[in-house]
Amino acid sequence: MSMFDISERAEKYRAQLLEFMDSHVYPAEAVYDEQMRAAGDPHFQPPILEELKAEAQRRGLWNLFHPYPEWGPGLTNLEYAPLAEIMGRSHLAPEACNCNAPDTGNMEVFTLFGTHEHKDKYLKPLLAGTIRSAFAMTEPAVASSDATNVELSMVRDGDEYVLNGRKWFASNALHPNCTVLIVMGKTDPDAAPHRQQSMMVVPIDAPGVTVMRGLPVFGYQDREGHAEIDFQNVRVPLKDVLKGEGEGFAISQARLGPGRIHHCMRAIGMAERALELMCRRASTRITFGKPIAANANIQDWIAEARIDIEMIRLLTLKAAYLMDTVGNKEARTEIAAIKVAAPNIALKIVDRAIQVHGGAGVTDDFPLAMAWAHLRTLRLADGPDEVHKRTLARQELRKYRDVKADN
Ligand SMILES: Cc1cc2nc3c(=O)[nH]c(=O)nc-3n(C[C@H](O)[C@H](O)[C@H](O)COP(=O)(O)OP(=O)(O)OC[C@H]3O[C@@H](n4cnc5c(N)ncnc54)[C@H](O)[C@@H]3O)c2cc1C
Repeated sequence: MSMFDISERAEKYRAQLLEFMDSHVYPAEAVYDEQMRAAGDPHFQPPILEELKAEAQRRGLWNLFHPYPEWGPGLTNLEYAPLAEIMGRSHLAPEACNCNAPDTGNMEVFTLFGTHEHKDKYLKPLLAGTIRSAFAMTEPAVASSDATNVELSMVRDGDEYVLNGRKWFASNALHPNCTVLIVMGKTDPDAAPHRQQSMMVVPIDAPGVTVMRGLPVFGYQDREGHAEIDFQNVRVPLKDVLKGEGEGFAISQARLGPGRIHHCMRAIGMAERALELMCRRASTRITFGKPIAANANIQDWIAEARIDIEMIRLLTLKAAYLMDTVGNKEARTEIAAIKVAAPNIALKIVDRAIQVHGGAGVTDDFPLAMAWAHLRTLRLADGPDEVHKRTLARQELRKYRDVKADN
């Protein structure tokens, strides 16, 4: 089988997912908007989403992301890629199919590093879609794109650790069903730089945890919320340290690889939807006696969008293939490359689709403005562009370490 063949089981899921999108997800978008408006609470969990979840589960379009067969369908990254792309076309589909960030990454962490108790208490209800979770690494006080800076203190006191510090941008922490946080902090400031951090499991209602506020994103209060959270003398039993003291950095590397490529797959889906909307609009609106699509510059945008989408899809599939065949660590250069390329290219396409829509493009009558805001955050979330480029450049420059100057 070549890298480009889609397996029989992935093809089956793909056809079912496309049907589910047409019959249920796209028609639900307007209902969702209406229910959210009526609720007047940005973090409300609308009934339509619970209906979609039930329908997706009934159809077996559930937890498709999970790579371990005892917990999900056990698809490879290459098999999951076209499915995540389809889900990326609507902001409702990832949660409807229980494949949304950051729960997917947290479920993988609980699968790999959680105790039996963590699996019973958190992993099983997360997989059932009945609770949600957040991942708290970033801090307002330090430049967190260098994770070694993270400084929330975790001080051992007998059979417990005591946590003090401040986090922000913990996505999902304002979801009404969020019950648990995975928190990264510093257990040993004197250890080697990548052994100072640990990750702990903290119930969101633990004494001393205060969710301060939801951070807006370009003025949007996302439904799941990006929370600023204060930790004051929060006591965490030893059993809730994931994998052991000093393992925080290693866990974050394991967690962020798949999470990053999933974002890219969904970004491609957003770009495809934007291109479709751009073509429809440009074909039907008339200016100066001809359809907008008849202008050479618009055709140039459309052609470039098609070329760019094909390029990022191929790079994403290559990264997925390498993750499956040589492992997430060995695939890190390709993951870094696509994490830069996919959001930037999708942003360019969405921006042009907005332009072609005129004023309508920036309203919420079309999904473009919200897609733009979301994609723009992906140039920061899970590592800013510059940090991934640093990884790439260092890898490239390593080849020239022993080069001598010409004289
Ligand atoms: C919508 C959204 C959701 C998020 N969700 C989560 C979440 O769930 N959990 C979580 O823990 N965090 C989350 N984040 C936080 C995100 O991961 C961080 O914002 C990101 O890692 C950058 O860290 P920082 O904000 O501290 O920026 P800083 O570390 O202060 O960096 C600022 C800027 O400096 C530049 N820079 C940094 N290093 C270099 C370099 N070597 N060379 C050149 N330029 C450089 C980059 O442009 C960078 O954007 C989210 C962010 C957003 C916007």
